[in-house]
Amino acid sequence: RQREKDTLFEANAYATKLYHYILRNTAAGTPAMDYLRSRGFTDKLIEEFGIGYAPSRWDTLTQALARNNFGLDEMERGGLLLKRQEGEGFVDRFRDRVMFPIHGSDGKVIAFAGRLMSAGQPKYMNSPETPVFNKSRTLYRLHEARGPIRKLRQVVLFEGYVDVIKAWSAGVHNGVATMGTALTAEHASVLRRFADEAILCYDGDDAGQAAAQKSIPILEEAGLRVRVGMLPKGKDPDEYISENGPDAFMREVIEGAVSTVKFQLIYLRKSHILLEEEGKIRYLRSAVKLIARRESPTEREMYLKELAQEFGVSIDTLKQEASEVRRQEK
Ligand code: ATP
Ligand code: MN
Ligand code: MN
Ligand code: MN
Repeated sequence: RQREKDTLFEANAYATKLYHYILRNTAAGTPAMDYLRSRGFTDKLIEEFGIGYAPSRWDTLTQALARNNFGLDEMERGGLLLKRQEGEGFVDRFRDRVMFPIHGSDGKVIAFAGRLMSAGQPKYMNSPETPVFNKSRTLYRLHEARGPIRKLRQVVLFEGYVDVIKAWSAGVHNGVATMGTALTAEHASVLRRFADEAILCYDGDDAGQAAAQKSIPILEEAGLRVRVGMLPKGKDPDEYISENGPDAFMREVIEGAVSTVKFQLIYLRKSHILLEEEGKIRYLRSAVKLIARRESPTEREMYLKELAQEFGVSIDTLKQEASEVRRQEK
């Protein structure tokens, strides 16, 4: 078992070097270099993150692995190759994609994410689960971010690989991302070992906001405090940084991250029509319910006061309603 794992580590390291070499030093890599530059990737970022390019030929990696005496069956189990659909033999899994190596906690490459440069589907293709790659445990860049996370006792969670990289270049060195999958309790418990607080910095679109909603209880149950970095509608962290610069990102989004209650109130508001009394009442009810579940009386008082002022109702009424909710939910 360990021998197979070691072989896969070796093959992944080899593939990382090959893809990177092709990107930097061959004509086949030129369009990918142009693509990366157009997205604001500097040479330094490309080096630091080990980014590469898998060319469009069917067998570039297959041939190279065979020449280096790697067993191709094993390489298929390791996620680098696919069995040919017809006939014998293997082909490259990743073709015509910009390659982002994914490292395990000890820094060895355990998988890849490959992005198409054009609008085709799927936009990102990840390695499958293999003996060395477990999606529900892996966090992109944790091996590098761990030190900063420990030092700050804080982790920033992103949805996308590019978001992690661009945030890193903007000075956020405690950022990680899941593998295009939902955050799991396993991820949260790994993070809890190094951090007391998590900042969710997901995309400012519906999918991102819904994912943040789902991640909050998972992180809280692991014992992390949670805040949410708010992005303008439809923007992701990469786009925000390109448009507003690193300082604004640090100040407005990361330092300005709001409490989960605030985030949930904003989220709740979007799903209620507040023009009529009925809609307002429904919103107030759900809002009070949410606030009632907070353990800190000070926190409850603060948010209820805000709501009371905004909707022109008395705080006593809202407090009564909140205690009612608390009684019922005990
Ligand atoms: P980019 O900036 O390169 O377009 P993104 O990170 O903004 O990428 P999103 O569409 O916001 O892309 O998706 C967020 C994340 O979800 C991606 O980084 C990737 O991990 C994952 N993802 C997106 N599309 C797919 C897909 N088709 N298959 C697998 N994972 C995907
Ligand atoms: Mn998105
Ligand atoms: Mn995105
Ligand atoms: Mn993006």
